[in-house]
Amino acid sequence: MNHMPFEKQLFDDQPMNEQQDSMLKAHLSECGQCRKLQSQWQFVEQQLSSAPMASPVPGFRNRWQAGLSRRRSIQQRRQVFRFLITLLTADAVSLIILGITSIISGSAAQWVLSTAKTVSTAFLIWGKLLEVASAIIELLPPAAPAFLAILFAGGLFLATALWVVSLWRISFQGVKVK
Ligand SMILES: [Zn+2]
Repeated sequence: MNHMPFEKQLFDDQPMNEQQDSMLKAHLSECGQCRKLQSQWQFVEQQLSSAPMASPVPGFRNRWQAGLSRRRSIQQRRQVFRFLITLLTADAVSLIILGITSIISGSAAQWVLSTAKTVSTAFLIWGKLLEVASAIIELLPPAAPAFLAILFAGGLFLATALWVVSLWRISFQGVKVK
């Protein structure tokens, strides 16, 4: 079967005269191959006309807003992470001070043992705390106010401070008793 010029007419935007139109219709009625071609081309045209380009403004706005909140949440996480690093540094400094105090007031051998234990415990607990903190931060919705994160970090700081103080007291008292 000769599909020309019908194949070309299917893809052609140019208007046909009545004779061409009826010949094409007659060919389509008896040619499955050209019918398939026609339906495929109609599908493609449909896809092209209903593409996001048809409504660029809302699509763009949504994407832009999603990008904005994502950037905000990244910034928020970065701030919280920086805060946690500061706390970790403060914790390390506290441990060093605790160690120096122990050296001054107790025997070096005892200090090495107790400090090794304290430091390893501290790192273990801090690792767990950071894990929990990052998991919670991940769960926060992007729009969650930053003060929630700050509140959480502040609570963590208070807990750490109390923990360091109590460790220091236990250690100090231990040295005193000995
Ligand atoms: Zn055909």
